[in-house]
Amino acid sequence: AKAAGRGTFKFFAPEMLADAQERRNMEFDLRSALAENQFSVVYQPSVHIGTQRLSGFEALIRWNHPDRGPVSPDVFIPLAEEIGLIAPIGEWVLRAACAEAASWPQDLRVAVNLSPLQCSSASLPALIAGVLSSTGLPANRLELEITEGVVLANNEQTYSNIASLKSLGVKIALDDFGTGYSSLGYLRTVAFDKIKIDKSFVAGAVAPGSKNAPIIRAVVSLASELGMESTAEGVESQDELALVRQLGCDYVQGYIYGKPMAATEARLLANEGATP
Ligand code: C2E
Ligand code: CA
Ligand code: CA
Ligand code: CA
Repeated sequence: AKAAGRGTFKFFAPEMLADAQERRNMEFDLRSALAENQFSVVYQPSVHIGTQRLSGFEALIRWNHPDRGPVSPDVFIPLAEEIGLIAPIGEWVLRAACAEAASWPQDLRVAVNLSPLQCSSASLPALIAGVLSSTGLPANRLELEITEGVVLANNEQTYSNIASLKSLGVKIALDDFGTGYSSLGYLRTVAFDKIKIDKSFVAGAVAPGSKNAPIIRAVVSLASELGMESTAEGVESQDELALVRQLGCDYVQGYIYGKPMAATEARLLANEGATP
C-alpha cells in the first residue's frame, strides 16, 4: 500500500491503517475533513414491526475523501477518537441530524451514535440541550445510541450524563447488544429505552440449527421485562423479517427496508409516512 502512494486506491480498508505512513496520511486528511466539508450524514429507516410504519431513521456519518472516495466510519471513527477529533465530528453529526429531523413529521425520531469519549464528557448534557434548542427538535424525538463498552467502562460521569439526558426526555438505546463482554449488570443500572440486537445475531438466524433465534428470543423477552423496546439490526431478507417478527422484536432496521440514504431521499420517505 505504501509503494502505491496516495490517491491510487478508491476504497480504504481497515488493514491499511497498519501501515504507519498510511495512518499518518489518514490522520492528516481527517484533521481537515470537517473544515473541507467532506463529511455527510446518511439516514437508515427503522420500521415498527407491528404497524409496519416508519418509526424514524438512524443517522450514520460518511466521509467522502477527495481522492480515496468513501471511507468507512469503522475506519475513521476509531482514528478520530484516538487523535482527539471525535468531539467536533460528533457534535457536527448531532447538529446535522437534529436539524434534519426537525423537518420530518412529528412522530419520527432520529437516532445518533455517540462514541465512548462523547459519553464520558462532562459537557455532553449541555451540548445536547443546546443542539435541541437551536434546531427546535423536541427531546423525545432524539435517541442516542451507545454501546455496551461505554457502559461497562463504569465511568461515573457517563452514568450521570445518561441520567441528565433522560431527564431532558432524550431516549437512550443500547447499541450492538451481544457483541461486548458478557455482563448484564449494567441493564440493572441504566434504564435504557431500547436494546438494539446486533446484526451478527440476525445474520444466519434462519439457518437450520442456528442458535441465534433462541438468543434473540431471550434478549427480546429480557428487554420487554425490563420495560425496554427492542430493534433487530441488519435484517436483509423476508425470512429474517418473518423470524424477528415471530420472535417479538418491536422494530427492524436493515437493507430489507432501506440502506442508509441521503437526507433528501429520507425526507421524501418521511413525508410519505408509509412503509418504506
Ligand atoms: P452501527 O451503529 O451498528 O450502524 C449500523 C451499521 O450496519 C451501519 O454501517 C449500516 O450501514 C449497517 N447496516 C444496516 N443495515 C444493514 C443490513 O441489513 N446488512 C448489513 N450487512 N449491514 C447493515 P456503517 O454506516 O458503515 O457504520 C458502521 C459503524 O460506524 C456504526 O455501526 C457505528 O458504530 C459507527 N458510526 C457510524 N456513524 C457514526 C457517528 O456519527 N458517530 C459515531 N460515534 N459512530 C458512528
Ligand atoms: Ca448504531
Ligand atoms: Ca448497531
Ligand atoms: Ca456497530
